Amino acid sequence: MRTAARGFPSFGRIPRKLGPIAATSWGRAWNAAMEDVAVDEQPLKDGRKLAHTGVIGPITLSPGLVRAEIGDGGELLGTLIELPTMTDRAWELVLEQISARAGHVAALLDGELSGELITELAEAGLPLVPLPSELEPECDCSMGYEIPCKHAAALSYQVSWLLDAEPFLLMLLRGMDQQELTRRLSSRKRPRARPRRGTSIAAAYKREPGPLPEISAEPPTGPYPVVDIEPPPGLPDFLVPRMFANAVWQARDLLGDLVNAEPTPWIEMYQDNVRLSVLYPELIADHLGSHETAAAWRLGGRAGLAVEKEKRKLTPTELAKARAALEAAELGEFEVGKEWGEPCNHFTFTGQRRQLRLGEDGLWYSYYDMKGWGQWLMAGPPDRDPAVAFDVPPPDKPKRALRRRLPKC
Ligand SMILES: [Zn+2]
Repeated sequence: MRTAARGFPSFGRIPRKLGPIAATSWGRAWNAAMEDVAVDEQPLKDGRKLAHTGVIGPITLSPGLVRAEIGDGGELLGTLIELPTMTDRAWELVLEQISARAGHVAALLDGELSGELITELAEAGLPLVPLPSELEPECDCSMGYEIPCKHAAALSYQVSWLLDAEPFLLMLLRGMDQQELTRRLSSRKRPRARPRRGTSIAAAYKREPGPLPEISAEPPTGPYPVVDIEPPPGLPDFLVPRMFANAVWQARDLLGDLVNAEPTPWIEMYQDNVRLSVLYPELIADHLGSHETAAAWRLGGRAGLAVEKEKRKLTPTELAKARAALEAAELGEFEVGKEWGEPCNHFTFTGQRRQLRLGEDGLWYSYYDMKGWGQWLMAGPPDRDPAVAFDVPPPDKPKRALRRRLPKC
């Protein structure tokens, strides 16, 4: 895939407006992803100011990378924001998703990328707008310990203006420019109809059912059944048996719900994607979830994932109780996190790369800073006692190499 970088002239000095920084839902989602990375609110505030002062030079956007030089105190600082590009296979799925609706194809060939399609792709596990865990800002400044520093934050806000004007740039950042997308969409042949297979409904009803298969009480992790179904175009063979096993397992739960007093709670699509990424880690590489969300689900289920995804403001009573519990546990000095200037459920221990987060369920969730600058990963099972939750070894480094080992199709 050949995708050229695009350059944009400096915005120069521009007046600040009231209201949100970006005008479109995807521009705002981009900003939210960057703001979610931030440990501290101050660099974001400074970045918002800086974005309007004309110190940021021309911006270059290329697959997986935003670059600009920023003037500060007579120095010229190189500032970057990195994000993962999509694999060829993920792009194949994107094209598949677009091609499923003639309206999307027509709009894209006309040069329009709608918010609706951006949302649809995100729901299908193919987010164009980066997830918070995907943005990696870097800067030459001495404030490198702040993630993002005010320079990277300012650059990120300016990128949201570019995205407001030209949503196609999201595709470029993910690895494919408008020209290449148009070329691939127009050259795409409609999939040939396969010869009809299987059994007619009438015949199926007439057939005597055989014995039901054994259903294990454990989630299906393999060996997987041999399923005589071709994968949909663009998807690898290994997927169908896994999805088959998963469907059997889900059906078992649904059947159980008929007779159980407490049915399994409804699972949202994003939760289900994360659940699948835990069951089949090889799918993480395809945007079903991140290592961070997978760890949260594995250790804490739904409640763990909620702790991973949302900072929760604490009431004064909750905060007082939490402080008292932590002080009694004598785990060391800690700082209370902030969400929009108010105390939240994150408690970071000074000089220990450790954090405890208080879940809505009243349990403490242990986190470890993998890189020493706020790359938090859930480290152990939650506990009502903060000392027990705290007392876990640092988690193993996630194996990011998986992405490369996936079969090509
Ligand atoms: Zn900086």
